[in-house]
Amino acid sequence: MPKTVEAKCTNTECTLDMMELHYTYEMPDETTVNDFVCPYCESATLEELVV
Ligand SMILES: [Zn+2]
Repeated sequence: MPKTVEAKCTNTECTLDMMELHYTYEMPDETTVNDFVCPYCESATLEELVV
C-alpha cells in the first residue's frame, strides 16, 4: 500500500488543524510532506505527524 501520512500546518496564522496525505505508487519514494503546501494557507509549512 502507498504510504498515508498525517500532517499539520505549522504556520501560526493558519487555522487548519491537520490533514491526511494519501500517496500513490506513481510518486517517487523520496516524496515527503515537504513536497506539498498547506491546502488552506498555501505555505510550505507542513510537518509530518509521527504517531
Ligand atoms: Zn496552513
